[in-house]
Parts: sequence; C-alpha cells; structure tokens
Amino acid sequence: MVHLYDFTLEELRDWVVRELGERPFRAVQLYEWMYQKRAKSFDEMTNLPKALRQRLNEMAYLRSAKQVVRQDSKVDPTTKFLLAWPDGVTVESVLMRHGYGNSVCVSSQVGCKMGCTFCASTLGGMIRHMTAGEMVEQVMHSQSLLDEVGQRVSSVVVMGSGEPMDNYDQVMRFIDIITNEHGLNIGQRHITVSTVGLVPGIRRLAEEGRQITLAVSLHAPNDAIRGRMMPVNKAYPIAKLMEACHDYYRKTGRRISFEYALVAGENDSLECAKELAELVKGLPCHVNLIPVNYVPERGYRRTDRKQIFAFWRALLDAGVNATIRREMGHDIAAACGQLRAQYANRQA
Ligand code: SAH
Repeated sequence: MVHLYDFTLEELRDWVVRELGERPFRAVQLYEWMYQKRAKSFDEMTNLPKALRQRLNEMAYLRSAKQVVRQDSKVDPTTKFLLAWPDGVTVESVLMRHGYGNSVCVSSQVGCKMGCTFCASTLGGMIRHMTAGEMVEQVMHSQSLLDEVGQRVSSVVVMGSGEPMDNYDQVMRFIDIITNEHGLNIGQRHITVSTVGLVPGIRRLAEEGRQITLAVSLHAPNDAIRGRMMPVNKAYPIAKLMEACHDYYRKTGRRISFEYALVAGENDSLECAKELAELVKGLPCHVNLIPVNYVPERGYRRTDRKQIFAFWRALLDAGVNATIRREMGHDIAAACGQLRAQYANRQA
C-alpha cells in the first residue's frame, strides 16, 4: 500500500502511469480531489472511473493518523493536536489562527536527538522520522477543521518536534507537495523551516534557491552559553553557524529569522543583548524573542516581563530588528513536545 500524500504531483503522475496504466491527466484529477476538494476517500472522487477507484482502494491510502488528543486554548484561537500513527508513534501539530491567516506548526520527527536542554521534544530521544506524507497529513488535519468555517491553511512552520535538517529530503518533498498549484498551493514565502543550526543543511538549502524562510535557533550570543544550552554547538559553533547564515543570505536574498528563547539568569542579561547585536550586525535578519516555556523536566525559569522588554529595547537601540513573540496556546502546552510528553507520562 502506498501513502498518496507522500507523492509530489510528478511522482503521482509516474505512479498512475506505471502502476495503474492510466493516462497522466488522472494524476492531476486525483491531486485536486485530495488537496482542493479534500476528499477523505477514493469513493468520493466521482469523476474517476469506478474501476480506477477500486484499484486505488486496493493499492493506496490517504489518511492514516488518528487524533488522540485535541486541546483548544481558552486564551487565544489555538488548537493543539496529538496524532497517532498505525505503528503507535504520536506527534504534535498546532493550528494557530491569526488575523492575517491560519498557520500550522508541523513536527518533522517523532522526538528529537538534538538534546537542547530547555526542550521537551528531546527527552526520549528520536524515535523515527516523519515521512513527507505524514507531514502533509498534519496540515490536512488542520485544514479539515478550517473547512468547517470556509478558511484555508495559509502558512506552515516546520517548528514542531524534530530537527528538519536531520530529515532533509522528506521535509523538502513535503514543501514541494503543499506548494503545488494543483494542491494546497501554499506560497513558498509562507513556509518557515526552523533549524537547531545544522550547518550542512543550511548550506544545502542555500543552494536550492527556494523562497522559504529559514529560522535559526540561536538562543545565545556566545559559545559558552550556547554550548550549555545546545549540544549541537560543539559540532557547529557560532562562528561557523553565522558564516553559513551570511552565505545563505548572499545566495537567496532571504532575511534570516533568529529565535532566541529567554531563560532567566542564563542568556537574558543586557550584556547578552549587546553581544547578540554585535553578532548579527551586517546580516539582514530578524530576532524573535521567546519567553522560554517552562518544561518541568528541565527546570529553567522564564525571564520576567520587565527584563524581556529591557532586552528587546537594548536590541532595538543597537539597530537590530527584533520582536517579542506573541505567545499562542500557552495554556495548552503548545511548546515543542510538551503535549506528547504529558500524554506519555499519563499512559505510563
Ligand atoms: N529543531 C528545530 C525546530 C523545532 S523547535 C529547531 O531547533 O529550531 C522550534 C523552536 O522552539 C526552536 O527555536 C526551539 O529552540 C524552541 N523551543 C524548544 N523548547 C522551547 C521552550 N521550552 N521554550 C521556548 N522555546 C522552545
């Protein structure tokens, strides 16, 4: 059985011709049924011949995940899902409704092996990669909810559990599938991929010349602090990372977005802000300040509001483009891996 959400339109065309002996235009029809009419079964695809629908039922499937938890935030229009796949793994996905559109946060792996000390996703290590089709399904799951109110998913952030650059091919295939004009047709510029800072991945992406946004989890202005928070810093220290970011900008012309989670007493001093401003000087970028989400297993405390604003102010004064991220779904454990970890604890 093949998962049809796994195929780009070109791959679907090949498959339809090779495996089903059909003409290539059937692939476009199928694709439009899947993504534009959001058919959940082949039987709904009424302009396909009955014999073809029969073959599809025997050889392929669409949805494979089950929703095991759904949490609606009481403080903002955010919904978090925990989805379970037939092999038993679970991942989180989040739908955030903004005034300007709807955004879905996708998990690229089950768990994570990067070991960031403030992150819940990495607690149990990396179980397996998500396939492109499983990432597409996460988007389709939120799209189903939006269909009830006549809206669409307008942007996607690969910022859920997992490290996308460690699952590079599947993530790029996923992007190809959701941006196809016969499908969900989500704009490249409305897609953000967030990386812990795997330099080879950043360099590879730079060569592809895609118009997506690259977010880099920086979280510290120097190797001493970053090394404590993020084991990846040993393999790719800040100088190497920044060099890759400059190259990325030179090659793509796309401004980089740096994520900086503020942890009380760790990386939130005004000296850190100054050092950060020095570090990003000369690189067209944007710094996103995030008050760290408390993860019980980790014990980090978040920076208080006053200090967050002082840190932000210091960046602005130094000419850095910075914002404080609006928190969405704080009451529903919307940070990476928190819901999955809670669910696993409850099951145990
Ligand atoms: N592996 C990728 C993408 C997943 S994490 C990456 O590292 O970028 C998405 C973002 O959430 C990253 O910036 C990550 O550092 C951040 N994050 C993880 N745990 C957090 C927490 N407890 N509080 C705030 N941000 C957190």
